[in-house]
Amino acid sequence: AKKSGRNTFRAYRKGMDELIEKRRALEADIERGLERDEFELYLQPRVSALDGSIIGYEALLRWNHPERGMVHPGDFIPVAEVSGKIIGLGEWVLREACRLAVELPPEVHLSVNVSPVQFRHPDFLGRIEAILKETSVAPQQLELEITESVLIDDERARLILGHLKSLGLKIALDDFGTGYSSLSYLSRYPFDVIKIDRSFVSALGEEETANAIVRTIIELGNGLGMRVVAEGVETVEQAGYLCAAGCDELQGYLLGRPLPVNRIAREISETVVT
Ligand code: C2E
Ligand code: CA
Ligand code: CA
Ligand code: CA
Repeated sequence: AKKSGRNTFRAYRKGMDELIEKRRALEADIERGLERDEFELYLQPRVSALDGSIIGYEALLRWNHPERGMVHPGDFIPVAEVSGKIIGLGEWVLREACRLAVELPPEVHLSVNVSPVQFRHPDFLGRIEAILKETSVAPQQLELEITESVLIDDERARLILGHLKSLGLKIALDDFGTGYSSLSYLSRYPFDVIKIDRSFVSALGEEETANAIVRTIIELGNGLGMRVVAEGVETVEQAGYLCAAGCDELQGYLLGRPLPVNRIAREISETVVT
């Protein structure tokens, strides 16, 4: 038994070493990717539930990898977060989004995802302010999407969110309903937007509780003066339910898939005209 225990440990150790090696390689690869300009922002529209007009876009990171092809954030953001590479990557995303926003009509919003690791960085605010200044973007055009996990550090989160608001930025609470999801967060922090997590939207019409949860989130958000956005809307039925329940904006494949900036340029110019 002792021997097999040792073998199990060796196998475990070997597995660990391989994992660590893989992670190191990916970290170096991310660094190279940044140097070689392999990252790209895709944009997915957020559409008014009232009249179908485009309110803005969410910027979603893509990695045009020379060997692996198009890599989605789920395959590299976790490693980037553990290694700290997310700081440089997140700055790249924010700078790129600001440059893009400057080119867009002022009424079109861009929202940017902020990793909890970025949020916790001691110089988070300083770096954001520097990028706003460097790009001369109108802060009102930008929205930062954060997740509930950053709200656990109550005092600091409140200070930072207050400061971001005072700069003129909008704040969205992403993936609402997952995680720790204390309802009291909603009244304790100055969110402009709450985004209902896709898991609730996709369960609409299938699980009775989902309809009740979604309706409650919308009422709560509206009651607190926030805009409520539904993520992951894929069917006409879901859209119909959300509109009837008073949801403000819809986002999802039904309304538009994430596309590279050049592919939606025409859509944006049409938005300008109307
Ligand atoms: P998220 O912020 O919840 O973004 C929404 C994800 O759902 C995106 O996946 C989007 O492509 C996908 N999606 C949109 N509509 C639909 C739909 O109707 N059905 C389905 N099944 N999926 C839909 P993506 O682009 O792979 O991003 C995954 C996650 O990676 C994001 O989740 C976000 O947490 C993170 N992420 C993306 N870009 C960035 C970034 O620039 N910085 C950071 N820190 N995280 C990012
Ligand atoms: Ca580029
Ligand atoms: Ca998001
Ligand atoms: Ca989300």
